[in-house]
Amino acid sequence: MDLGIRGKRALVCASSKGLGRGVAEALAEAGVDLVLNARGSEALEVTAEAIRRAHQVNVVAVAADITTEAGREAVLGEAGALDILVTNAGGPAPGIWSDWTRDDFVKALDANMLTPIALMKALLPGMIDKAWGRVVNITSQSVKAPIAALGLSNAARTGLTGYVAGTSRQVAPFGVTINNLLPGIHDTDRAVQLDGGVVKARGITMEAARAERAATIPARRYGTAEEFGAMAAFLCSQHAGFIVGQNILLDGGATNATI
Ligand code: NAP
Repeated sequence: MDLGIRGKRALVCASSKGLGRGVAEALAEAGVDLVLNARGSEALEVTAEAIRRAHQVNVVAVAADITTEAGREAVLGEAGALDILVTNAGGPAPGIWSDWTRDDFVKALDANMLTPIALMKALLPGMIDKAWGRVVNITSQSVKAPIAALGLSNAARTGLTGYVAGTSRQVAPFGVTINNLLPGIHDTDRAVQLDGGVVKARGITMEAARAERAATIPARRYGTAEEFGAMAAFLCSQHAGFIVGQNILLDGGATNATI
């Protein structure tokens, strides 16, 4: 399917690895020029060059912490005008409610709620002026079904979801859509981090932790960054203009709910 977005320009945050990279690859395959971002410049440059070579699109790489004001300024300054925004950042570490401090919450809110909101605030006006735009926020399955150990993530991402529910309806009249993609477990470094926590807490092997988790998923496996990227690219496509303010689960059926 031709996604109809060749020549558009996208910012994909936190995209040197994992789900962000999967989204960047899928957009590049559709002919979209990219601004990529991550904190570490080494992996970022490697990813940027691999995408340039594979897809012959323009790729600008900006090494910066997207969860800081200075980082966002650096990225937005390099990026210029954009048609597509994909927000993403690392997720908070797992833990327990009785340990989390106000500072832990402020950090999680900054990373996973206020950063995407700040990026939307900066970029939506330009999209509205052009009467076309796409925003996809990478959130989490934990928005629909809480993961107790990820309480910081549950709280911050649910706040973002509430913001998107209203704002997406305010910008839809101008040809701009905002939607959220909710990953369940995917085979990335984040999964290694989460499974590592189980290994430590329960004294089992990594293989056992993965097998246990996979057994709880109807698809009986972890998702891939490629599958995730393809769905994100579709949401950014010309065909997705009528999809507004939705929260789309990519979790192999793990969330046991009718709708
Ligand atoms: P990942 O494999 O660990 O990749 C994270 C990417 O984000 C890397 O490129 C990393 O590069 C970059 N990054 C992290 N923090 C950043 C920051 N502050 N500023 C700029 N770039 C940053 O993680 P992932 O699995 O792709 O997960 C992406 C998001 O989805 C996370 O919020 C995660 O919590 C959420 N999620 C993931 C899963 C899963 O199973 N994978 C499930 C549910 C939700 P640098 O380290 O160099 O900055």
